[in-house]
Amino acid sequence: MDARGWDQCDFVYVCGDAYVDHPSFGMAIITRVLEAHGYRVGVICQPDWTGPASISALGEPRLGFLVSAGNMDSMVNHYTVNKKPRHEDAYTPGGRAGARPNRAVTVYGNLIRRTFKDKPIIIGGIEASLRRLAHYDYWQDKLKRSVLLDSSADLLLYGMGEHSIVEVADALAAGLPIEQITFVNGSVYRVSGPQALDNVYDYELLPSWDDLTADRLEYAHSFNIQQQNMDPITGRRLVEPYPNGVYVVQNPPAVPLTTAEMDEVAELPYARHWHPDYDEAGGIPAFDEIRFSISSNRGCFGECSFCALAFHQGRMLQVRSRESIIREAELLTRDPEFKGYINDVGGPTANFFKPACTKQLTHGVCKNRRCLWPSVCRNMDTNEDAYAELLRDLRQLPGVKKVFVRSGIRFDYTMADASDKFLVELLQHHVSGQLRLAPEHVSDAVLSVMGKPRREVYDAFVERFERLSAEYGLKQYVVPYLISSHPGSTMKEAVELAEAVRDMGYMPEQVQDFYPTPSTMSTCMFYTGVDPRTMEPVYIPRDPREKAMQRALIQYRKPENYKLVKEALRKAGREDLIGYGSKCLIRPVPPKPGAGGKKTGAAPSKAGATGKRAKGSGTERPQCGAGRGHGNENPAVPQPQNRAERRAAARSGKKGSAPTTGRGGAMQHGRPSPGTPGGCATGKSAAGTNPHARNRAAQGRQGANRH
Ligand code: SF4
Repeated sequence: MDARGWDQCDFVYVCGDAYVDHPSFGMAIITRVLEAHGYRVGVICQPDWTGPASISALGEPRLGFLVSAGNMDSMVNHYTVNKKPRHEDAYTPGGRAGARPNRAVTVYGNLIRRTFKDKPIIIGGIEASLRRLAHYDYWQDKLKRSVLLDSSADLLLYGMGEHSIVEVADALAAGLPIEQITFVNGSVYRVSGPQALDNVYDYELLPSWDDLTADRLEYAHSFNIQQQNMDPITGRRLVEPYPNGVYVVQNPPAVPLTTAEMDEVAELPYARHWHPDYDEAGGIPAFDEIRFSISSNRGCFGECSFCALAFHQGRMLQVRSRESIIREAELLTRDPEFKGYINDVGGPTANFFKPACTKQLTHGVCKNRRCLWPSVCRNMDTNEDAYAELLRDLRQLPGVKKVFVRSGIRFDYTMADASDKFLVELLQHHVSGQLRLAPEHVSDAVLSVMGKPRREVYDAFVERFERLSAEYGLKQYVVPYLISSHPGSTMKEAVELAEAVRDMGYMPEQVQDFYPTPSTMSTCMFYTGVDPRTMEPVYIPRDPREKAMQRALIQYRKPENYKLVKEALRKAGREDLIGYGSKCLIRPVPPKPGAGGKKTGAAPSKAGATGKRAKGSGTERPQCGAGRGHGNENPAVPQPQNRAERRAAARSGKKGSAPTTGRGGAMQHGRPSPGTPGGCATGKSAAGTNPHARNRAAQGRQGANRH
């Protein structure tokens, strides 16, 4: 602050992530946006939450505090689906775990309130966004109140926050008290008292907290209403009553950014690196994932049930212009560490490069219909030429050797594209041996619950991909991602999946147990036992033993899974799969110690097509949105440097400039120089979403969701 000549910040942003000034990080986007509007913002990253001194490091801000847990919900960041602590945190220097508290938004909010009793506190980011109303919390296995109430905050901004944060900042700067800022779309506020709702207009009353806690079906009903009011054009104001005359009011979603605004946000003067304070620890692992990747779009009309992305970013696609993306690529080529490989050009779903249809731009998205399920809507424009041409233009830039698409693609969307243009471009130039897709299951019953296309669509895509690859002289294969124990999956469907795996000829290395992260449709099913769209009962695998069996079935070749697989087959009445026949999954006797290991694992390799089995690891991956990292692994691309190499590179000064450092880990940025704080909203999730690399950023996808 001294270096900038500031005596006070306008806002102090407190964040659970370390500071990376890059447009894949919500904190960087929001703070840069505020800076561009003339506000001085200080950032305090990963403060010591055991005492108030850490959040006082930059003094009292003039207008208020902004609080975010970071790019992921802190509970997803901290715990596996089995509720065991993770040992790494990709958003912390050196990947060290333990730098933020559980339920970070709540903890930081209350910490600030203890010291700054009357200062406005505005919470945002993925954790706040997906917990904005009453929600099921998997880790405590119960319903929790809106995080607005538990965090002692004054206002909550949900979804993409560029518009709403500026509106709130301008209102505060104009002298409006925070309790009067009730008019901002994309915000949630609280009112109380006998006449509390007198000034709330045109709203829909949700079931009350008392109703929700008395009857789980009331939560399913409430969730369905919320899902139907996520559109910025047709969404209504929602009111959730709490005891003692308290009401939480959710305003309609913020208006999506135009292409010009998307370009502007993407091209703010980011330092495009972590703060130099982190060099000694080896930097921020999540940054390695996205350093040479480009976000081209936001939002998703895929609406997989296990994904919260539409609930966070919305169904309406927001895209950058080709020119802006080209400019960013050219910027990458000037990075001294750029080796010629752009690792990704995509978003939550890479091949969604325009809104699903023109009707939704004026009338909003359909309330009671999904765009891609049960089949592709006939009003949808499925031509993918623009994305194909973008990829072609990028790979022809001087200095670019190869452009990869690591964000997932929706294969049903591509199948609906009558032209082969995109697919041919993809398999010829943007895939290296394997195309990773996320069918998630093979049982049509389970796929229906997931909101995914039928198995025949996946099979047809695989046939088309391999046929076209062969026509171009390429031996390339599709590698599927699968989810076990998703709502709707009984042991019968789990065995059906194992048989499909057998017929594929290799064992998937990536298997994800269903993870009930906040505010997904599938999580609502997990808690209530019904599909909120129909209120029909849905089977929920809850018993840990059954879940272990369902998971083991997918990797039935692993010797360590033998007992579980045998038990599962007996339970399903499928002893016919125990024996020596070619269709049997296991033999009647367990493998001898040390035997069979080389047959397990597998994956994307030529072995897949020949029926040979390769090695696999069976590592956990977040069932995250398609986003980054679901894509196509490329062995030809140099892997991110290890920690020692990063340190060495950091010391040699090979990187861009970064914001100035404040005291005690706090950083300041603001007018007039670049470097800002902030981030209530998440842009394309930076790291987070990548299952493989544990890059779980954009939890729109956090922890869950591929497409
Ligand atoms: S008309 Fe079809 S593509 Fe358009 S919003 Fe409705 S379901 Fe989606």
